Amino acid sequence: TKYVYDFAEGNKDLKDLLGGKGANLAEMVRIGLPVPPGFTITTEACREYLAEGRPPAELAGQVGAHLTALEQKMGRRLGEPADPLLVSVRSGAKFSMPGMMETVLNVGLTDASVHGLAARSGNERFAWDSYRRLIQMFGKTVCDVPGDAFEHAMDEVKGERADIDLDAAELRTLVGTFKTIFAEHTGREFPQDPREQLKLAVNAVFDSWNAERAVLYRRQERIPADLGTAVNIVAMVFGNLGPDSGTGVAFTRDPATGARGVYGDYLANAQGEDVVAGIRNTVGLHELEQLDKKSFDELMGIMSTLEGHYRDLCDIEFTIEAGKLWMLQTRVGKRTAAAAFIIASQLVDEGMIDLDEALRRQSGARLAQLMFPTFDETAVDKPIAKGIAASPGAAVGHVVFDSEQAAEQAARGEKVILVRRETNPDDLPGMIAAQGILTSRGGKTSHAAVVARGMGKTCVCGAESVEVDLAGKRFAVGDVTVSEGDLISIDGTTGAIYLGEVPVKPSPVVRYFDGDLPADADTLVAAVHRMLEHADLRRRMAIRTNADTGADAARARRFGAQGIGLCRTEHMFLGERRTMVERLILADGEDEQQRALDALLPLQRDDFAEIFRAMGGLPVTIRLIDPPLHEFLPPLEELAVEVATAEHPDPHREALLAAVHRMHEQNPMLGLRGVRLGLVIPGLFGMQVRAIAQAAAKVRAEGGEARPEIMVPLVGAVQELEAVRADAERILAEEGMTGTPIGTMIEVPRAALTAGQIAEAADFFSFGTNDLTQMGWGFSRDDVEGSFFSRYLELGVFGVSPFETLDRDGIGRLVRIAVQEGRQVRPDLKIGVCGEHGGDPESVRFFDEVGLDYVSCSPFRVPVARLEAGRARL
Ligand code: ADP
Ligand code: MG
Ligand code: MG
Repeated sequence: TKYVYDFAEGNKDLKDLLGGKGANLAEMVRIGLPVPPGFTITTEACREYLAEGRPPAELAGQVGAHLTALEQKMGRRLGEPADPLLVSVRSGAKFSMPGMMETVLNVGLTDASVHGLAARSGNERFAWDSYRRLIQMFGKTVCDVPGDAFEHAMDEVKGERADIDLDAAELRTLVGTFKTIFAEHTGREFPQDPREQLKLAVNAVFDSWNAERAVLYRRQERIPADLGTAVNIVAMVFGNLGPDSGTGVAFTRDPATGARGVYGDYLANAQGEDVVAGIRNTVGLHELEQLDKKSFDELMGIMSTLEGHYRDLCDIEFTIEAGKLWMLQTRVGKRTAAAAFIIASQLVDEGMIDLDEALRRQSGARLAQLMFPTFDETAVDKPIAKGIAASPGAAVGHVVFDSEQAAEQAARGEKVILVRRETNPDDLPGMIAAQGILTSRGGKTSHAAVVARGMGKTCVCGAESVEVDLAGKRFAVGDVTVSEGDLISIDGTTGAIYLGEVPVKPSPVVRYFDGDLPADADTLVAAVHRMLEHADLRRRMAIRTNADTGADAARARRFGAQGIGLCRTEHMFLGERRTMVERLILADGEDEQQRALDALLPLQRDDFAEIFRAMGGLPVTIRLIDPPLHEFLPPLEELAVEVATAEHPDPHREALLAAVHRMHEQNPMLGLRGVRLGLVIPGLFGMQVRAIAQAAAKVRAEGGEARPEIMVPLVGAVQELEAVRADAERILAEEGMTGTPIGTMIEVPRAALTAGQIAEAADFFSFGTNDLTQMGWGFSRDDVEGSFFSRYLELGVFGVSPFETLDRDGIGRLVRIAVQEGRQVRPDLKIGVCGEHGGDPESVRFFDEVGLDYVSCSPFRVPVARLEAGRARL
């Protein structure tokens, strides 16, 4: 097997094998950009290493051969005492996991070669600085020496000075100290054989795939756990050679807003990890123009080449060694949800991509983010401080200063804002748990910014006026002090930081959907409008909504709903109407029962009429009552206590208590509900059918349009549906509404498996995927989340809760069978879905694939479903 690829052999499409970093380094070499030579060990080697606990047998030989070739190209040998070649050993998985895995720089330095490096570069200071970095990084990442140990030793020598102020002699002493620290913690000397250093570093990178924080990040980002990382061996170039050297990171556009321009941070006389770690304050990239015009111009040229080549926003890492520019990394950059829409739209305007490609690059999850509310600035005082708007959103929470505590408090259901000077990968659990992240240092490319953006979490970074006092658990801005536990609000769209809780208002995107903002209101709204229009053009499926009030229905329609796929009727029995339901339940004999139903009928009729009016002739699927009736009665214990402690006996309450006892069920979700209720309490469904028919007639009489569809819940056998249908048809005929479609939910597994029979009696199907999942897996939807689901996710039984994303293999199979067998019997059978999954991006894709006619989801999910249904067709 070929486990090693020279950069000259790879390209950007080999991410599976070479990881993102390796594939893109190869691509940059391919298009002639200045990349230091190197090679990549494949993810396949990593997978074998992780499975076997040791590298594949052929790996050492192949690495050796590529190393020799590299040495020949560079005219130097790895760690050669007189004139050493140094390399970096860099992780790089298929999906970028910023800072989650390990990288070791300056591999090849030893007690002997450090002198060679000093002699060749004529720079003692640089040589010792590089050596102390190697011992530090190698110690930390390869041998698990606690990083603090090195940092304390360095702080002692440094005092108040910055790290660049250390001179050669001090650094040399520091190397001695570092070696002692290394030996103390590992029980061995720092390895003096360059090839051993290399081998250990490679294995450490392999191992870092399973580092705790990497595992956590993957789970959060839903990156598969079995991909493994590639390892890149890259000839070192040095940004720490002096003032005419340096290192930086940049984006080809602003990743927060999509605005075109030059965005990046630069740090003179430093090695790469210094920038991300926020060791010293960086300067804006434009200052490089003053420092080194030639390199700056070359960099601008390369950035535009990369944008043109990748047809997208790219982020890059570069290093300047004594006036010579080197590219060390590029990738299609992470961006905020807003920027994703704006950039894609810009690229269409620039003729770089077409609308299909622009749509392909969007996601429903991102659109959903843009629909979250934003702060209402008119309702607050001035912010206490402003930082850099790194990742948008409006976050409110109690201030917390450490990751672990943030995670703990969040687990108790508290909302927290994690405040740090800067974050590092160990802060990941806290970042995940927090509503938002606030840092006092670091720019748009800092760890906090990059990770927050990737997770879609609100982040304000680099708020320099915020002085964080970690030990004192407080921060100060001027004379304002904010202590742990205080409530603050941070705005990731503007960078503003407020004391207390700021009220929120609808986002511009929602205001646009609501018709309160025109489509050309701003660049974001215009871009969202454009993508949704294109999605509407492409999609095959219709989008309906789940709504049971006129107001919800009207809103969903403004959001683009083409009908109601699920109008629940049980909400219409709540509130004051409970007493009517009680009367129905307690009714003594058919007459009394009928009177109770007669009282409900006009109310139901008005409910339905309101909805028909809001939908103006679009189809409205009304589900007959579904939950067990005792849900409308007071809880057993409450009632029992009330009756037992009453001063005077109340016969009505006593009768009610008796009824509650009588109707009690061990498994109410599998009990007397849905169609069963309709068959056991004659007249209940009938009353609803009559109300529907009369409401439609009424709206038509007013000159409006009404298109009701009657849906029967919980059917498991065709006989159930036939019985309900016969009764309903009789009533519809009496009301002059013959021809109103009557269909059924498919939510009991047996219904899916006998769909061919059921289709004989159904004009349409609508999958109730919540119940279908619940009954298909045998999971109680109301109980699992807090109980064993986290364990199941950990074990990989499923990657995401099947209540969130439809389980294709199991429940999806039931759906497929029902669609196929239903349509065999009745080719024009209309089929939709009205469970929670109707608004889930992944599931929408599946429903398109199996040929459903529509998905129905909550009003706020309608735009998401439109977008995803369009993307599903590309
Ligand atoms: P990460 O994936 O965490 O960004 P990298 O492998 O990109 O880690 O490396 C960390 C830092 O070291 C980056 O800033 C990178 O530019 C720098 N670096 C990596 N390899 C080299 C090299 N061969 N010469 C100089 N700097 C390097
Ligand atoms: Mg990098
Ligand atoms: Mg159901």
